[in-house]
Amino acid sequence: MSFESLGLLPELLRAVREKGYETPTSIQAQAIPTILQGRDVLGGAQTGTGKTAAFTLPLLQKLFSAPQAPGKKPVRALVLTPTRELALQVEESIRMYGKHLPFASMTIFGGVNVNPQIRTLKAGVDIVVATPGRLLDHVEQRTIDLSRVEFLILDEADRMLDMGFIRDIRKILALLPKKRQNLMFSATYNDEIRTLAESMLNDPVSIDVAPRNSGTQLVTHIVHPVDREKKTALLIHLAKTLNLRQALVFTRTKHMANNVAEALNEAGITAMAIHGNKSQPKRVQALSDFKTGRIRILVATDIAARGLDIVDLPHVVNFELPYVAEDFVHRTGRTGRNGVEGDAIALVCIDEDHLLRDIEKVMKRSLPRETIAGFAPNPSIRAEPLMKTRRSDGHRPQRQTSRSGQPLGQGQRPTASGNHPPMGSGRTGPSHSGGSSRPTGSTFGGRGQPRR
Ligand code: AMP
Repeated sequence: MSFESLGLLPELLRAVREKGYETPTSIQAQAIPTILQGRDVLGGAQTGTGKTAAFTLPLLQKLFSAPQAPGKKPVRALVLTPTRELALQVEESIRMYGKHLPFASMTIFGGVNVNPQIRTLKAGVDIVVATPGRLLDHVEQRTIDLSRVEFLILDEADRMLDMGFIRDIRKILALLPKKRQNLMFSATYNDEIRTLAESMLNDPVSIDVAPRNSGTQLVTHIVHPVDREKKTALLIHLAKTLNLRQALVFTRTKHMANNVAEALNEAGITAMAIHGNKSQPKRVQALSDFKTGRIRILVATDIAARGLDIVDLPHVVNFELPYVAEDFVHRTGRTGRNGVEGDAIALVCIDEDHLLRDIEKVMKRSLPRETIAGFAPNPSIRAEPLMKTRRSDGHRPQRQTSRSGQPLGQGQRPTASGNHPPMGSGRTGPSHSGGSSRPTGSTFGGRGQPRR
């Protein structure tokens, strides 16, 4: 299978060649011809499968084959993402794959000055990549017109629902023209996703690429049992003895991310924390320093790390296990990508035993344990309840155990049919005043500019 055989425009094939891709990934081979035919798609795929190109390439082609009259560009394609990091990455891909085509794209997300976004929208853009909250701010301010959207893409739909965006998504759907092509991607699948898919997609083609919930085969997992107070010391020990470089370390809270980064730096191991309280320029800087090797360790909360595409990341450390078992799969999916082996280390204290059990249930296997000399857990220490603090996006964690939804197993395909519980049951979707959606007064010059 070659990119040429997918029927892509020469301009897109050129961009793909320049990027160095030789063959389409599984999701690309399946999704590109389907999208070009004009069908809606429900894609079961996580970051790392090449899903961004799978929807971006045919989207650009479809936009190109139905050009607009001269004049101010209407917003013709809307991509919704759960986080600003993912929005930035997707928009970067759009620019890269579309570099030989005449489209303008932009990101819209909160936590940055709104004015550059307004100016860019006024000038006219074809493609908007947005997080839901700030997009709705623009709708309220009448600074964006969504009435001419032809393509809607919902990326990481499961995470959007986890973050409580369902009400915002429904509001946005109501603003779009009825006749449009819809694409929805999700790494996991449950009743809520199915309900949303049914209301959003029109006779979708389901495309499901493995592996997902079982974790990628290229990741070597290891669990180190340790007392809660000794985790930091153990992390420093491992960073030194294993000579960890380019390790992404996950914590449950922003506060812990800061503490861990500080302790690592004090121990002479360069580290930075990345989470929702950091300004956007700081987050971008931390990510860039991490990618270029200026810092060895990036300590992140789930929200900040979601969707980060760090190619060939060798190590992921779960300093604290996530409340939601599927998040463990997402976290460890940062490594073992693009055919490169990686390892996933989890530091687990007695308080987290039930979380580990949930994770093993979702992964359908037990993870090997190894006690490190000098860090064996003290058997007299009793389990304590985990602190349920506010999540970094300002919303409470929704569950302590795994999601109610069934993970997609191998060969199990998402469909848009079935019996559904009432929408949003038990959920209070945030107004878009939460976390990432309000301007903070900080500026983020240039990011709001269209890329032509
Ligand atoms: P994504 O799942 O869209 O986040 O993509 C994951 C990574 O795979 C990104 O670094 C892409 O640049 C890369 N990628 C996407 N498609 C291909 C391909 N056909 N061949 C090689 N790498 C690819």
